[in-house]
Amino acid sequence: MESAPEQRGRDNRHGHAPGSDGDVVRVVVVGAGFAGLEAAKAIARGDVRAEVTLIDRQVYSTFQPLLYQVATGGLNPGDVTYPVRGLAVQLGFRFRWGAVAAIDRDAQEVVLADGGRVGYDHLVLAAGVAANHFGVRGAAEHSLAMYTRAQSLDLRDGLMTRLERIAADEREGATVVVVGGGPTGVEMAGTLAELRNDALPVAYPEIARAQVDVVLVEMGEELLAPFHPALRRYTLAQLRRRGVEVRLRTSIREVGPDHVLLDGGERLRADITIWAAGVGAAPEVAGWGLPQGRGGRITVCPDLRVVGEDRIFAIGDLAIGVDDPLPQLAQPAIQGGRHVAAQIAALEQSRPTAPFRYTDKGIMATIGRRAAVVELPSGLRLRGTIAWVAWVALHVATLLGNRNRVATLLNLSWRYLAHPGGSGMIVGDVQPRSEDGPTRDATPWDATPPDGDAA
Ligand SMILES: Cc1cc2nc3c(=O)[nH]c(=O)nc-3n(C[C@H](O)[C@H](O)[C@H](O)COP(=O)(O)OP(=O)(O)OC[C@H]3O[C@@H](n4cnc5c(N)ncnc54)[C@H](O)[C@@H]3O)c2cc1C
Repeated sequence: MESAPEQRGRDNRHGHAPGSDGDVVRVVVVGAGFAGLEAAKAIARGDVRAEVTLIDRQVYSTFQPLLYQVATGGLNPGDVTYPVRGLAVQLGFRFRWGAVAAIDRDAQEVVLADGGRVGYDHLVLAAGVAANHFGVRGAAEHSLAMYTRAQSLDLRDGLMTRLERIAADEREGATVVVVGGGPTGVEMAGTLAELRNDALPVAYPEIARAQVDVVLVEMGEELLAPFHPALRRYTLAQLRRRGVEVRLRTSIREVGPDHVLLDGGERLRADITIWAAGVGAAPEVAGWGLPQGRGGRITVCPDLRVVGEDRIFAIGDLAIGVDDPLPQLAQPAIQGGRHVAAQIAALEQSRPTAPFRYTDKGIMATIGRRAAVVELPSGLRLRGTIAWVAWVALHVATLLGNRNRVATLLNLSWRYLAHPGGSGMIVGDVQPRSEDGPTRDATPWDATPPDGDAA
């Protein structure tokens, strides 16, 4: 399937994979998230004889909706990630580890960062998104995001380091600023407040509650904009009850190593800044030479083919419809994956393609123990304990793999049921040498030794 460098371009004719009998269609899927996995599975199991190669820069698929639990010591990183090779064997596709750097459309090959090339007859791009800092000064350098397993571990270790510093020196304190009042920001702020309120008194008796502040900053009028106003009000009240300082109609002008500067000029202390304000395509997507719309997302036609392309599809968070921008959620990604499989079959059987129709299954967000909001397309709205139980059940059920489901259920039960009001935190690494504030990519706490401490 993968061409050696000297074979590049050798195998680009439709339906001719090396070693195949000539009827096999080469489909390359980029990204092993919700969208890419569903596409790879559906194509491999469909009626077209296809040789499917799934490419991802990680060797696992990440269940992003529970990353905030990893970041706050509720789950282990392995609970929310699943090895793609296991799935490949099970579901009948190949896996290639690698980061896509470019697309050679003339040769019909995907070019990987390690120089490898993978030929395709149909290409499905499902590489998801990264944090979008909207050009806010210092945000990329001094805030942490939560889109990957590594980022959530950075965050967990950063939090633990900060707590150990406060425990060691009672003059210290910590203010965590969460930027963005969408579901990710709300979940993060709610869980941090819960940790501060419940876990800290048990695990860190030296730390007074007043030494740790959680601030949620949202530029809009309300939190959780896509939800019904009653659920938005409930969310705001719940967060405030848990001691989160919620600042609405507030924009961030700059992020520094120890502060955020608000638009009005006010400077807020921020020992840790968590960026949950928006997403966009990763910078490398610009090098793929495809049309990009809002947030750098790749623009697609109604059938999910990239605008101007016959053989390239884009799905999931990375794609934006020219007429209909779908929400960046798991369901549009999964349904989009199934749709492209059907469209590839249609193209192979010389049938016309069909437009993608999204079936809305509702939205939900959690605020913390016994508090969540659920809104169904029928208009049914739930909140409180029942919504929270529904949220937990759905998230555990949709994880990949029984082992991950059992481990997650056990760890969440430990956090919320077995140890209510207890610590229950999974321990991270504490690296107390650095005096620097957090940065986005590296674990910053060990980056620069304080003056006079250099090796
Ligand atoms: C913290 C958080 C909480 C969320 N909570 C919810 C929720 O409760 N409900 C919900 O419906 N949605 C939720 N979402 C959104 C949901 O996770 C996304 O909509 C969904 O993951 C999108 O799926 P995807 O397949 O498009 O992308 P992803 O799941 O992001 O997968 C993209 C894959 O592409 C790979 N990749 C990226 N670049 C490259 C490259 N250059 N080369 C090779 N591989 C690459 C990545 O490693 C990754 O595996 C949440 C998201 C976050 C971050």
